Amino acid sequence: MAGPETAAGPRRGPGPDVHELSIANEIVAVAERTAGGLPVAVVRVKVGRLRQVVPEYLDFYFEAAARGTVCEGAAMEWERLPSLLRCDQCATEWDPAPAPARTEDELLVDFRCPGCRSGLHSVVSGDELLVESIDVEDPDPQQGRGPGPEAGRKASPAPGKGGG
Ligand SMILES: [Zn+2]
Repeated sequence: MAGPETAAGPRRGPGPDVHELSIANEIVAVAERTAGGLPVAVVRVKVGRLRQVVPEYLDFYFEAAARGTVCEGAAMEWERLPSLLRCDQCATEWDPAPAPARTEDELLVDFRCPGCRSGLHSVVSGDELLVESIDVEDPDPQQGRGPGPEAGRKASPAPGKGGG
């Protein structure tokens, strides 16, 4: 019954980096634009491994960011994209965060070249953040067996018509 605790105020200055919050906001914004006003059921996201997103945080912030938008209550499915770096010195390519890590916590990201141990590298992939696709809810099929296709229905404020 207790309301949601809003511990996170608009604080400025040194504080925890709410990395996932800005990502969540971005995801909701893209999904909203794509949905065209229809309620969103599922949002599919791809996140590169180098983004080092904490899944629980992203779920939490997505729910918060979606509140009051067409994404409210939507499920978020996301998958990690593999990461790949290329050494600037010897052009070796390697995955700094290989998949077989048992948990995300144990994910050891090695940014040094396995060939020459150089720290200079370019990111080939792994820092992506993509909204891959969304599913929108079908406009209520129960409401009426379509006399006509009602596309792009907008929520227009209907002035109360007096019964008569
Ligand atoms: Zn190298």
